[in-house]
Amino acid sequence: MAKSTGRHFLQVPGPSPVPERVLRAMAMPVIDHRGPEFARLGEEVLRGCQSVFRTAQPVIIYPASGTGAWEAAIVNTLSPGDRVLMVETGHFATLWRQMAVKWGIDVDFIAGDWRHAADPAAIEDKLRRDAGHAIRAVMVVHNETSTGAISPIAEIRAALDRAGHPALLMVDTISSLGSADYRHDEWRVDVAVSCSQKGLMLPPGLSFVAVSQRALTASRSGRLPRSYWGWDDMLKANAGGYFPYTPSTNLLFGLREALAMLDEEGLETVFARHARLATATRAAVRAWGLEILCQEADHRSPVLTAVVMPDGHDADRFRKIVLDLFDMSLGTGLGKLAGKVFRIGHLGAINELTLMGTLAGVEMGLAAAGVPHRSGGIVAAMEALCPETSSRLHASAA
Ligand SMILES: *Cc1c(COP(=O)(O)O)cnc(C)c1O
Repeated sequence: MAKSTGRHFLQVPGPSPVPERVLRAMAMPVIDHRGPEFARLGEEVLRGCQSVFRTAQPVIIYPASGTGAWEAAIVNTLSPGDRVLMVETGHFATLWRQMAVKWGIDVDFIAGDWRHAADPAAIEDKLRRDAGHAIRAVMVVHNETSTGAISPIAEIRAALDRAGHPALLMVDTISSLGSADYRHDEWRVDVAVSCSQKGLMLPPGLSFVAVSQRALTASRSGRLPRSYWGWDDMLKANAGGYFPYTPSTNLLFGLREALAMLDEEGLETVFARHARLATATRAAVRAWGLEILCQEADHRSPVLTAVVMPDGHDADRFRKIVLDLFDMSLGTGLGKLAGKVFRIGHLGAINELTLMGTLAGVEMGLAAAGVPHRSGGIVAAMEALCPETSSRLHASAA
């Protein structure tokens, strides 16, 4: 039976916990989305979204999950039979590819083992060999939430530049926006897609697309059919703070509050907090003697850590034990990783002590499930968060 006292620990890498401030901001009467009060809200959240994407170009908000933003990116910019280059970083890259194929796009998929980030050199090589510039877009997942590997978008931009290739650069920032450094204009990304329920600390239901002028130009000649997802009508209405159809007004109240929270903390501080919590999580995993799925130290995600289960132990059985005993949800293994990994989300509205509770739940769960491991993950995480807790210092004082 699930515990009903205290707070449920929602430590999956999206949806992330929604702060009470955001919940309260949404508990409001619905307003007329054609009235003057709405225009102020619309303008404020659209401007706020530009600052989290770090762009002066348009951001579009849809009432949809992140998958809807993927579809918007594809149908607005591409034509049937277009070639695109994608990288198999994991489950989400694979799903994005499947969607593109359904739209009649010819996808060149750089194979991956789901344990590494996208390799800029491999992208550059493909582009250099495309002398006729048939590739219309390079589409990569920034933070691959299924594996916990984060790809170097600035370096991928540089790879396109070095190859002198005009392909559009499209990036899935669904689990990185608001959690990891992302710079839309500086990195000259053409389309970035995101959603509400990860780093933006909101319930599911909103998705975002940041669009460059080049992508807007491409949308005028793209021949894929689109209606609801079309950028033109949306941008016309957005110019006055409105939407062409009924927006998710109360989620936008929440968005305004979440953007204010990110602004108050400061994006750099937010990113540093995520990096610190990720470092402590990895210290715990190493102390347990378990394996981190992402094999490249430089590309381990600040958002989540995927942990490989020892052979013969089922990750979902372990997750169920943690849920039953400690009322905590951990992320499941997606796609071909089902049963083989569990994922610890350390994103959004969490702090050091939330993380310590989370890691304590994992360590107790490993013991309760009979998963071979060493104890001491908690101490290792405390030392990572606060060097004064070091057992060495403690011993020398004794
Ligand atoms: C969560 C996620 C998605 C899917 O988003 P939905 O909101 O479930 O549609 C896509 N890509 C990445 C990287 C994600 O983390």
